[in-house]
Amino acid sequence: MKNILFYKYTNIQNLNDFKEQQFKLCKRLHLLGTILIAKEGINGCLSGNEKDTKKYMDLLDKNPKFKDVKFKVTKAHKSTFKRLSVRIRKEIVTSRLKVNLKKAAPYIEPKQLKNLLESKEDVILLDARNNYEYDIGKFKHAIHLDLDTFRQFPSKINQFKNINNIKNKKIVTYCTGGVRCEKASAFLREEGFTDVHQLHGGILAYGNEVGNEHWQGKCFVFDKRGAIEIDPNNQSELISQCILCHLPNADYHNCKLTTCDKRFIACEDCLKTLKHCCSKNCRNILYR
Ligand SMILES: [Zn+2]
Ligand SMILES: [Zn+2]
Repeated sequence: MKNILFYKYTNIQNLNDFKEQQFKLCKRLHLLGTILIAKEGINGCLSGNEKDTKKYMDLLDKNPKFKDVKFKVTKAHKSTFKRLSVRIRKEIVTSRLKVNLKKAAPYIEPKQLKNLLESKEDVILLDARNNYEYDIGKFKHAIHLDLDTFRQFPSKINQFKNINNIKNKKIVTYCTGGVRCEKASAFLREEGFTDVHQLHGGILAYGNEVGNEHWQGKCFVFDKRGAIEIDPNNQSELISQCILCHLPNADYHNCKLTTCDKRFIACEDCLKTLKHCCSKNCRNILYR
């Protein structure tokens, strides 16, 4: 089984027809997962067998509108998704950022980034993801903006841009598969940052093409796998710990106490001890 992750910003005119067509195609190829479509483009994560996922990628590539989509392919043991969903949205990734996508920063390819990180050149690696993603895995020395959601990106950048002389520094933005960085990097350039680049295909492309050098921890993914190794052939050292025993772990859970609902990391044993709550306190409230 394979998982494929992809996006493309392109003008889509007739959303309902396109939705129907994508749904039928995925059904025919026995693909499961989620496709978001909007007037601005397509963002998808699908799983299926090797032959069918390849067929899907070939077909999309044949459509001039979707030429040169960078597919991120990862191995999956069993189907990551239980069903197929094709949805129409306002944006293919929620940002509420009104940016001109033509301003998106030039790409830096994974291999180029590796070389850059091994050179003496001064570079700021800017993680455009949310804090819970960053907490379990990131590029070494990357900085982040402590985002709860990507919607906070503009306001956090407004604080960031006051750092002395930062606007002329070389900045490389990255996210999981690249879709957020198109908008994030365009926003940075609109805000006057002069030397911005975006990692083409994001962390997953880096893992596939380069491996896990300069990376630490796991990569958070928005499906039931939770977190994956970026390099299928090499394990990275974990950087996050179980909330209770503090041993290395990267498995997220949500507190069973619904009034809390906090996202937390716990190992299996401690999860049992905590009865799926984020703390003894929450457990005691729930099982009072
Ligand atoms: Zn534990
Ligand atoms: Zn809790």
